[in-house]
Amino acid sequence: MKTGIAASRGIAIGRAYVLAETNYLENLTAKAENLQQEIFRLDEAIHKAISEIQGVKEKALRELNAKHAAIFDAHISILQDETLHKDAKSLILSDCSKAECAVKKTMDGYCSLFDQMEDEYLKERAGDFRDVSSRLLRCLSGEEGDRCAGMAEDCIVIARDLTPSDTAHMDKEKVKAIVTELGGRTSHTAIMARSLEIPAVLGIKDIAQTAKNGDLLIVDGTAGIVIVNPGEEQLRTYEQKRLEYIESQNVMQQLVDLPAVTKDGGRRVELAVNIGSAEDCASGLRYGAEGVGLFRTEFLYMNRATLPDEEEQYLAYRKALEAMGSRAVIIRTLDIGGDKSLPYLQIEPEMNPFLGMRAIRLCLQHPHIFKSQLRAILRASCYGKARIMYPMIAAKWELKAANQALFEAMAELDSQGIPYNKHIEKGIMIEIPAAAIVAEHFVEDVDFFSIGSNDLVQYTLAVDRLNEKMSDFYKPLHPAVLRLIKHVIDVSHRAGKWTGMCGEMAGEEKYAPLLIGMGLDEFSMSASSLLTVKKTIRNLDYAQAKQLAREALELGEAAQVTELLKGYY
Ligand code: PEP
Ligand code: MG
Repeated sequence: MKTGIAASRGIAIGRAYVLAETNYLENLTAKAENLQQEIFRLDEAIHKAISEIQGVKEKALRELNAKHAAIFDAHISILQDETLHKDAKSLILSDCSKAECAVKKTMDGYCSLFDQMEDEYLKERAGDFRDVSSRLLRCLSGEEGDRCAGMAEDCIVIARDLTPSDTAHMDKEKVKAIVTELGGRTSHTAIMARSLEIPAVLGIKDIAQTAKNGDLLIVDGTAGIVIVNPGEEQLRTYEQKRLEYIESQNVMQQLVDLPAVTKDGGRRVELAVNIGSAEDCASGLRYGAEGVGLFRTEFLYMNRATLPDEEEQYLAYRKALEAMGSRAVIIRTLDIGGDKSLPYLQIEPEMNPFLGMRAIRLCLQHPHIFKSQLRAILRASCYGKARIMYPMIAAKWELKAANQALFEAMAELDSQGIPYNKHIEKGIMIEIPAAAIVAEHFVEDVDFFSIGSNDLVQYTLAVDRLNEKMSDFYKPLHPAVLRLIKHVIDVSHRAGKWTGMCGEMAGEEKYAPLLIGMGLDEFSMSASSLLTVKKTIRNLDYAQAKQLAREALELGEAAQVTELLKGYY
């Protein structure tokens, strides 16, 4: 029995489907058996890399500009240079190494030469060599984009890590559960699993190496337990637990049409669903969502070779708005960067992508991308109750610049006689502590705030939300986080506005008493959490919840708040 991070509720029993890892790591140390074969593989990989880069360059010429495309010429020259071929080949022959090892050593050598240069321009060229090196290694590994092709029916997916691109390729109908070595509760994998109602356990050390295709597995996503090749008795126990879980879910269905109101009637809040596509609205509605609190639009942009155009986006947003009828849909503008990349945008690799060119920062740098999304949202706004939300706002000028882009998009539509909702509500995500602290300076320019607790906790506590080794340090109950949340709520209320939360904290029932006590107005979460949170809220006493929040805000440590909550329950 292995224990990891309980990332998505539910129990599944099924056969393992292990997603292959790139094999170049092994080949870095293995000795070559046939040296001519390795030289042949080297030549093949160089050719493949050149033709890949040529493809990317053509796309860059079409969609960006000649300056961007020139980067690829530099990459092609590196690969065509005889020196690379000669140096790598002589390493294969002298060390009997595999092509991977020869490429890695040769390219690392070039990188460190450039790294040591005084001249800033030349120093930066090391980045080009690193790029080319990783492309060559990938070509040598034979790794293609889609590791999920060939997935069996009713399987349990095992992987070291799942990238957003893996999950987009995955045929979710076939997946009964997910188990990975990496990732935390707010990682993309966890969020995706919850929204698809697939049980998931993350942070299980070495599982991708120890489990084999076809192994029988029990995955308990509620307790964070994985059992590989269980015995008869364990199978019987977990089959029973699985049925009980399904039964409890059915019982909770009775709450679907009831309001999220405390039992004394003192506080009524709104429960909304987080979606990644218009299709997710259906499960939200099935669990009684009163709106969409977060439409993560980045999935529209991923796993494709080019940007989606305005028309495609407009249709996607319109579909979500129509599905939700009179309920509000908060459409978050593109939040790419961090763990979600768009290869066709050629964003420079960053040391700390979560602290880098992400979300609104990237959109303001690429006005044509931002404008086309804003136009699409505005056009769709005629078909329901759309709201716009900007992610990762840290400074007031960013909000002003985003609103300016929105006004320009509106003016364009006006001049073209295209209709849209002129009074569309605008909000910002509060996920950077800076924005929370000076919330009073943002409030006049927005209609609402939505707290992105996933990032707010990460940035407040300096804890990588994706790193499973840091999961013990990732504490939404840290009083610093709670005070920021409370401050934002109070600021919005004083201005006659409202605050929601669309981070994972909103979907965990154990936090509901505190959030209700602090005055949160809207909770947005995965569809599968809606009823559990509603049940908790309906059992709360509002006066007690407020008292609990007051006490929690006086404490100095997350552990003390946890104890306080335990006492409360
Ligand atoms: C958050 O940060 O809480 C959030 C909802 O945004 P994402 O998880 O997409 O970064
Ligand atoms: Mg975020």
